[in-house]
Amino acid sequence: MNTQKNCWWFILAQGKILLLPQGDLVPYGNLDDLSLTAALVAKKIKVGEYQSSPCYLLEFAQPQDIGFGEYSELRSLLGVVDDRLFELAGRAFQLAHFYKTHQFCGQCGTKMNPIEWEVAMKCYHCQHRCYPRVSPCIIVGIRKENRILLALHQRHKKSNRPVYTVLAGFTEAGETLEHCVEREVFEESAIKIKNIKYVTSQPWPFPHSLMMGYTAEYLSGEIKIDTRELCSADWYDIDDLPKLPNQGTLARKLINRLISQCR
Ligand SMILES: [Zn+2]
Repeated sequence: MNTQKNCWWFILAQGKILLLPQGDLVPYGNLDDLSLTAALVAKKIKVGEYQSSPCYLLEFAQPQDIGFGEYSELRSLLGVVDDRLFELAGRAFQLAHFYKTHQFCGQCGTKMNPIEWEVAMKCYHCQHRCYPRVSPCIIVGIRKENRILLALHQRHKKSNRPVYTVLAGFTEAGETLEHCVEREVFEESAIKIKNIKYVTSQPWPFPHSLMMGYTAEYLSGEIKIDTRELCSADWYDIDDLPKLPNQGTLARKLINRLISQCR
């Protein structure tokens, strides 16, 4: 490898990513800029390209000091850097998770080996092959006239100022996305919806979801929540909304879209 070529470096350790305090946050430069031994650099994995420069993943068991930056949460990049750069950083986390959790064959227990020409692990004993797992899930913003259905999720309730957000859930085996939207909404809130429309998607690397965002309108029923998932759910007037998810999240994009439909 040409050690003078500038690259983006996703340097991970113990579930965190090394970030710079300013600029694009993700370190960019050539190998000679990094205070790493050749042996450590040899573990690098190509993640993709960003702004015509290659992106590499380097994962270490212990945080390595490369001379600059601080290890931070992946979430701290969300909505702060360009969406594409966040997606690539998320892909780096997903690849690291994939290689870590597919060292042995799930079918016969033999040690697996990476395939050189694609992102996959293969067992040369029984020929079983694995690809990075992507778990589809739906997320849906629902409108009833000038009000939006927002819920306080069990996982958010401990926060001082908890976030109220739209409903979401994982797609089940053998289910269409549209059916998943109807089922999740009914299971979590007991209401029926209509006019289900696909909006956009967002990879959600915590650890390997792909969120598919929809909007819908209220059809019938009274809200009755599934208390295993939710603490509360209610219709909120668009002029009197509680604390919402951060800009940059798909949930916020859906809420913004519903608000613009109401106005
Ligand atoms: Zn096997």
